Amino acid sequence: MSITVVGSIAYDTVKTPFGERERMLGGAAVHFALAASFFEEVCVVGPVGDDFGEPQLEVMRARGVNVSDIERVQGGRTFFWQGEYGWDLNSRETLDTQLGVFEGFQPKLSDSSRASDVLFLANIQPDLQREVRSQLPHARFVALDSMDLWINIARDSLVSAIEGVDCVILNDAELRQLTGKPNLVAAAREILTWTPSDPSGPGRGPSVVVAKQGEYGAALVPPESFFALPAYPLESVVDPTGAGDTFAGGLIGYIAAHPDEAISDELLRRAMAHATVLASFNVEEFGTERLQRLTGKEIVARIAELHSMTQFTSASLSLRG
Ligand code: AMP
Repeated sequence: MSITVVGSIAYDTVKTPFGERERMLGGAAVHFALAASFFEEVCVVGPVGDDFGEPQLEVMRARGVNVSDIERVQGGRTFFWQGEYGWDLNSRETLDTQLGVFEGFQPKLSDSSRASDVLFLANIQPDLQREVRSQLPHARFVALDSMDLWINIARDSLVSAIEGVDCVILNDAELRQLTGKPNLVAAAREILTWTPSDPSGPGRGPSVVVAKQGEYGAALVPPESFFALPAYPLESVVDPTGAGDTFAGGLIGYIAAHPDEAISDELLRRAMAHATVLASFNVEEFGTERLQRLTGKEIVARIAELHSMTQFTSASLSLRG
């Protein structure tokens, strides 16, 4: 069953200690879609300006992504983001954000986007996320990502959006900022208590939180258990832009590829492994460069490596004391 994603479709200008790129293809929905496309068909919803090129659309089409709900706004400018990373690739500075065609955008989903049973609300204004969520009221699994900007300027709307989804994917600092709780597990568990303030709205409130921790990996927090994976250890990371969205694409893509399985801890753990591996490829090169030539075979091989790296036997030992 296909996946629908709404989020930014962007031009990114990025500088890291290892190089720089100007106006390369980026955006949360794009990174997500390229990753999720290894598992299922993905419908991307969002606007671009008339500065958005045919070669950029072709990058998505080449991976089988359905781009028919990408709306070209005549006379508009594509979303633009500029960021810079220092030696600590876990933190970055945003130098410029231009919403462009996202300002005043009213999402109109086609029948094929509305027919998806899995929905990802990638990072964008929470009002837009809610608008798209309301157009897929019966989706089997809905996940959401956001960022500090929306926690700062649109917190109430973001909280309402979260109340309407099954899964929240945020980085650890955002979880702390959103809940005011310094402890990550406590912050995640707090979000799991949120239920829709408007009971006629879609969803029952989140049942799982995924905390992204950059180069330290990610944690899965359902109500009564816990699971964590380290990041796949790479010796060279070139550009972390889009790692979070690529992670989400691996996670949600894997879930979408198992339509007959209940959303169990076990399924979510396997999805976390695929998310971790997809994200590790993304950061090896700038923007979408690595994902564009990634193969299924490479993913399978790295999953096997991650599996062997994260296993240990639980042999019993009688301890002193
Ligand atoms: P990530 O590194 O996973 O946080 O995602 C980076 C991507 O998010 C870039 O490709 C940007 O185009 C996009 N992005 C950055 N800021 C925003 C924003 N305020 N709203 C939506 N997308 C954004």
